[in-house]
Order: sequence, then structure tokens, then C-alpha cells
Amino acid sequence: MRKKVIGGICSTVMVCSLLAAGNGTTYASGANNTDAPTNKSVKNVILFITDGMSLSDVNLARWYQGGQALTMDKYFSGLVRTYSTDSLTTDSAAGATAYATGHKVKSETVSILPDRITMPFVDAVKPEDVNKPLLTIMDAARMAGKSTGTVFTCELTDATPATFLSHAYTRDNAQSIAEQMVYSGVDVLLGGGSGYLVPGKEDINRKDGEDLTKILKSNGYDYVTDKAGLMNSKTNKIWGLFNSEALDADFDLNPQKQPSLAEMTKVAVEKLSQNEKGFILMVEASQIDWYGHDNDPVGIMSETLAFDKAFKAAVDFAEKDGNTAVLSVSDHATGGLNMTNYDSTKDLVSVMKKAKHTSYYIEGSINENNFKKVLADNYGLSDLTKEEADQVRIGMKDNLSPVIGKILGNKIGVTFSTDDHTSEEVGLFAYHPANYKPTDFVNSGVIQNTDVNKYIQEVTGLNLAQLQDTLYVSSDKFKAKGATISLDKTDKTNPVVVVKKAGQVLKLPIDKNIAILDGKTTKLNVLTVMIKDKVWVSQDAVDLIL
Ligand SMILES: [Zn+2]
Repeated sequence: MRKKVIGGICSTVMVCSLLAAGNGTTYASGANNTDAPTNKSVKNVILFITDGMSLSDVNLARWYQGGQALTMDKYFSGLVRTYSTDSLTTDSAAGATAYATGHKVKSETVSILPDRITMPFVDAVKPEDVNKPLLTIMDAARMAGKSTGTVFTCELTDATPATFLSHAYTRDNAQSIAEQMVYSGVDVLLGGGSGYLVPGKEDINRKDGEDLTKILKSNGYDYVTDKAGLMNSKTNKIWGLFNSEALDADFDLNPQKQPSLAEMTKVAVEKLSQNEKGFILMVEASQIDWYGHDNDPVGIMSETLAFDKAFKAAVDFAEKDGNTAVLSVSDHATGGLNMTNYDSTKDLVSVMKKAKHTSYYIEGSINENNFKKVLADNYGLSDLTKEEADQVRIGMKDNLSPVIGKILGNKIGVTFSTDDHTSEEVGLFAYHPANYKPTDFVNSGVIQNTDVNKYIQEVTGLNLAQLQDTLYVSSDKFKAKGATISLDKTDKTNPVVVVKKAGQVLKLPIDKNIAILDGKTTKLNVLTVMIKDKVWVSQDAVDLIL
């Protein structure tokens, strides 16, 4: 049972009066750090987000391979605080938004300024800027002529990839998020969720009748849906979605059909690095979180080790390239995995190595008649007690993952404290050619999630604050120019903003980056976005009205 959308904290009530004036304190104080290396600048940044990965997960992964160091170990460099503007424990939308935009935001929201601030050290928001779309590091990179990419193993509309390429009041708004991503201008996008791009009867299919794969192709992208297509693609603009929903876990995937996270990372780097102005790539190990929710230690191993391989691919490139920084952070931790084993590692390794697949792999085929064989074949669990067998029977009717997790956990001293997120600091892993890391930028071993974004701005020279006010502006700006503005809902699923002034007619389709002025279509710098009935537009759209 996949728990893709786990709230934990649902703050749906808009409480503007609670917009507290935080004192704005973060750890970022790079300008004052005199010990930092002078050659801080890099052309490229590869940012990993390990969704839900705790340092205990990493500990288990290390023991899983007999205690050997992971690739990431060498690059551990500090701890990151992850809270959102309204909650000590964050969700992925607010957690990833901090990395994408440099702003803490309200839980469940996607790259927009918060309408609720109850936590400390968060800047107050001006009333007119509440819910305003925030520029992302991808926007700034694109505007500077760099190439941009995202790689993930979940559906494209899931919270983490969404925060880098779209804006929404709630992360559940997948229809809008998918369309914004198609029009976002991202050069390389690889992962799962092809079902979100095409019309059809499934819940995930498009309800506006648009086939967004046609838009991608007409905008010059290669659109591929299997591994061979990815490996054979010759263009540097590519979308690859290798399953209608999420990709399979690394332990479960068919290597003939779906690429691994490391393979997707390598292809993305290869294509993006063709741009001599550099690139920004975000790679998400998406499913560590899901297996944390399901208390499945095998899934956590599968995805943590898959991340470590992808991280190695990125660091190998960066060390050779000499002009690339590689960072890895988590948006939050999930599941509260504890290791309480006083015995030697022998038992842990022998039990865990017999577990060949995640719980998702067997959930479609296991039943009352075959469960003993399925658990013996896939997990080495050939000696179920009567009590365990009864628990499996109950689990098969509801959610089997935590039942298997508990049986395995009892053997190796692993327990979980929750099926939801946890609020402890997460690990920061970093490589920089001159060894200048986010902890140096901030001058502290413990940093804020927002500091990671500010560090990326510093080392790449990108400046989000400077661009912010010239890109996303209120559509009220049209009125200030004496124009009238209305929303054409003739096609309810594809609303269009219509601006009129002295014979000029400007049409701005919501969720797209295009403007149609007197019948002629032009591309805008950023998307036209509607957040809670308020429309935000690219300043260059406003400039089209004379
Ligand atoms: Zn989660």
C-alpha cells in the first residue's frame, strides 16, 4: 500500500493574522566568513534529496554491507534543520521548497510564500505577497542560460520534483502541477508518472483532454518511456517517464525496462554538461520515505544503497570535472528507524541479505495459499511461528509491509517509532572542488535547509532575490496600466486570463508559459499561475501591454 501523500500536518485554515514577524535569523552569514577558500565559484551543482532518509537508515545500510563505508560517508559535512513555517515536523513539499527556493514555507504547499507562520526564524510576509509563487533555483539557472534537470523515482507530480518546477497551494493539485512542469522549460526530466500527461479514465490521467506528450514533442523534446529509448536518445532536451506511476524500487526493478537512479543520474549529467554555461541538476531518491512510512527495512536498504550509487556517479563526474559541487540532503526523516541490537553484525547481515525484494514487489501476488513460499523465497523467512503467520494473514488484508518489517526487525534488532515523518536533523553530504561547503558558507556545523539554497546561489552566482520581483508579479499590475482583466472559463479545465486595453487583447493560459497577444504567441520568462483565485504573471507579460 503506497502512502505517497502523507500529511501528518494539514494546515488548511488560512490564518493571515498569525503571520508572525520572525526575527529572520538563519545561520547564513557567508559574507562574514573570512576563512573560506577564495575560489568558491562553480559552474554546476548536483543536488540530491534523499526523501525521508534518516542517519539511522544510513547506519543500517552501512551494517547491511558488513560495516563497510558508504560512498556518502567521506562527504558527510554537517546537519540540516528541516522545520516548515508552521510545523516542527515538515512534509516533503515544504521541505523540498526550502532547497528549491531558499524560503521556508507552510507544510503541504509547493514553492509559494506562506500564509501561516508559527515557527521561529522565519521572515514575515507582506500581506500583498501572501501565497506568491517563489522563484526556484531552476528558474534562475534557466534565465542565466544554464541547463536544468530533475531526476526522481516517484511520479513527476510528487512533492519534491514539483517544488523545483511548479507552484501550488496544495501538493495534491497534480493536474496543475503536471502541466506547469511540461511548460517549465526544464531541459532533462527523468522518472515516473507518464499517466499524468495523457487523457484517460484513470484518476491520474488528464482531465482537461490535453495530451501533454504532444506539447513536449512540439517543443523539441525527445519523449521516451523505456530504458532503450533513454540510452539511444541523441538530444540534450529529453523527458523520460519509465512507468505510468512511480518506478520500481532498486531491488525490484527489471533492468531491461527501467533505468536505475544511478543510470538516470549519469545520463542527465552527460546531457546537461554539454552546456558550457553549466547546469543545475536535482536528483531525488524518492522512495526511502515511502518505505519509512511502511516500516519496511528492506525497501529502505534498497533505496538508500541506490542513492549511494547515484551519489558516487555524481561525485565521480564532479571530481573529474573540477567545476561542479555535489550536495545531498533530506527533506525530513521518516519512520524513526532504531537499531537496538547488542549482538554482532553477523546475524543482521545473514538475515537482511536473504531479503531480496521490497514489500511492494510481493503485495500483488501474495495470498493465503502461497504466502509461506513467497516469504521463504523472497525473504528467507522459512520458519514463521504460528503467531507470525497469523500477523501475515491480517497484513495481507490491509498493509503487509509493516508486518514483514516487524518479523525481520525482531531478528535483527530494528524497530520503528512511527509510520510518519520525524523532525530530527538530517545529514548534509557535500563535495566542492575547493572544499568550500554549506557549513563553511554558514560558519556552523548545523545549518538551516534554506541555507543550502543560499549556498547554491553563492557558488553559482545566481541571485533569486534580485530576479524574484521582475518575474512573478500580481496580475493587478495590468489594472495599474489601465487594462481590464477577466478569466475566460469557457473551457473549465483550461482557464485563460484575458487582458484588454485600447484594442490590444492579451491571453495568458493558466499553468503555461505562453502569451497570445492579438493572436500571436510568445514565450514568457515564467508560468502564469493561479493560487487560490489570485493570478500571478511573468513581468514580461505585463510589459506586452502598452
Ligand atoms: Zn513522507
